[in-house]
Amino acid sequence: MTAPTYYVTTTIPYVNASPHLGFALELVQADVLARHRRQRGDAVRFPSGTDDNSLKNVLAAAAEGVSTQELVDRNAGAFEALRGPLWLSFDDFIRTSRNPRHRPGVERLWRTCAASGDLYRKHYEGLYCVGCEQFYTPGELVDGRCPEHGTEPQRVAEENWFFRLSRYQDRLLGLIESGRLRIEPAARRNEVLAFVAAGLREK
Ligand SMILES: [Zn+2]
Repeated sequence: MTAPTYYVTTTIPYVNASPHLGFALELVQADVLARHRRQRGDAVRFPSGTDDNSLKNVLAAAAEGVSTQELVDRNAGAFEALRGPLWLSFDDFIRTSRNPRHRPGVERLWRTCAASGDLYRKHYEGLYCVGCEQFYTPGELVDGRCPEHGTEPQRVAEENWFFRLSRYQDRLLGLIESGRLRIEPAARRNEVLAFVAAGLREK
């Protein structure tokens, strides 16, 4: 009998600054899970990495007067170097601007989505927070400001690609309600269920 494969990973942080304590905590928590499963005899796969492609990184590099690649290389290096002092046991570290395996993976995912009709182009206008790298609806703002950063979002108009998330609404609800897709703790599960049930619409 082969050991079951246990997959654990982290978010991949933007590297516009040095690592902060919050991400160190996330790495350590993932590492605890990975070590625990290895000790139980599972075949563990534990990748981590950095998101080198973001507007935040570009803006941070411009503010410092260095090239984006220079800033990204320096900061991503600091994230990867956490391995030593934190005694991390991740078995792979993927940087989205440097790792040659990343691009073909992205292209394959894109083509698969395109082939099944999940992608479409649309003109979009909205309120964008660079800090969050996301659009907000006016109702999500607090006194017209980003609930996370307290800054005023920019009005951005763009022609972009979108994913037809609404197609998957019923399937997602079914998977979460039946417990086949488990979200823990229960409070988060209910939050996600309420969000999906309210209607997934493309912005
Ligand atoms: Zn924000």
